[in-house]
Amino acid sequence: MDGDSFFASCEIVLDKKLEGRAVWVGGGRRGDGIVIAANRAARKFGVKTGMACFEAKRLCPRGVLCRPHYDEYRRLSAEMFHVLEEYSPTLVPISIDEGFLDFTTMDRHVFRNTTPEKYVKEICERIWHEVKLPVSAGLANSSRLAKLATDAAKPGYLEIKTGEEKEFLKDRCVRELSGLGKNRQRALAALGAMTFGHVAKLPSTLLKQKFGIWGQKLWLFSNGLWNEPLLLEVKDRTTISSNTTLPYDEPDYEAALTFALSETTRLVGQLRREQLQARELSLTIRFDDFGEVGGSHRFRHPQFQNSIINSELEGIFRGIMAGQTKMVRQIRIAFWNLEKLDTQPTLWGRTQAERWGALDEAALTAQKILIEKFKIDKIPLMTGAQLALQQLDDAHKNPKAKCPFVPQREMVKKLWGTDADPLAHKGDMEKRLAKVSKQLQFRH
Ligand SMILES: [Mg+2]
Repeated sequence: MDGDSFFASCEIVLDKKLEGRAVWVGGGRRGDGIVIAANRAARKFGVKTGMACFEAKRLCPRGVLCRPHYDEYRRLSAEMFHVLEEYSPTLVPISIDEGFLDFTTMDRHVFRNTTPEKYVKEICERIWHEVKLPVSAGLANSSRLAKLATDAAKPGYLEIKTGEEKEFLKDRCVRELSGLGKNRQRALAALGAMTFGHVAKLPSTLLKQKFGIWGQKLWLFSNGLWNEPLLLEVKDRTTISSNTTLPYDEPDYEAALTFALSETTRLVGQLRREQLQARELSLTIRFDDFGEVGGSHRFRHPQFQNSIINSELEGIFRGIMAGQTKMVRQIRIAFWNLEKLDTQPTLWGRTQAERWGALDEAALTAQKILIEKFKIDKIPLMTGAQLALQQLDDAHKNPKAKCPFVPQREMVKKLWGTDADPLAHKGDMEKRLAKVSKQLQFRH
């Protein structure tokens, strides 16, 4: 399932007056940079994702430019996924508006009184009625093929029936396969394989030799023989980072530092929520001429305390900014080398570090209680840096919502409140694959 021009459709949900008009959403600092989504009506005029907003206006003078409302997109996305999860025990979200549903075991029960086609169309209709978002869908024997079917169907629905896979793929470019890198694409082109039909005609042994297991998979896929169970892959997080373009180019380095500290505090909060601590920290500053400076620090022990992390960040900041004169455009902060955090919240520690830890812990708990019990949705507790930032100026007072490309694991957590380990059968899969491709090679 895939939302049709999702951001633009969301804008229409948010403002009924936009219905029937050409609509696009502008990104960039002031919402007038480049087009990040355009609806069908706008695309008819040639408005495309990635084009400058003034160019879009020139092509389609009567169209409407909307500034992005990421928080609202996130809310509508959650509503859409809540409908989806009623229709299959396995739902794998891929992005804010895309997800896979597995119907593998439903033939005997669910599909006795309906057809897969009716079932999928019913889901689309429900989302249309309840959330007012248009959704396209594709049905096939693997998630990869279902994605291609969805792209081909847009807007609408397409089913690739069993036995018709190879025919459907025959004239489609291998480029359409998601995750196909430039290098592999070039290597395939060198073998004369531009379409899946070409790939299907190559000897599978050649593909195996060139690309290993991926080549075997591609050969099976091109021949319509690839299927795999839909798995929810929840990978452990390896980094936590943020990349923020300031509302305007900042000439005042103290203000930029305040911003960096406040952002660090937010990230540390995220570390704590996910029960993690970090060994390494890095800070990169990008200037208005796109030149960059950066520095990093490796802690002796993994860290989770605001006080320690913030003072280290300030040290890095002062170090890399000494002697600089250009205005600050963007600030990137990253934590990596993450480890699990097992804290026993103690009220008073014996050492300085333990006391700071206890203080951090208490602040976090208080914050949680205020939010949950008293339904306060603004941040009720602020660190010094966050407070200073709020007092800085209006542009900083209401920090803009971040772009909502939530990583899959966070989306999963939000939907089900857990992250189980769905990778348990992975070894099995590889074995089965080896067996299947062996049999096929024989026949070949
Ligand atoms: Mg979409």
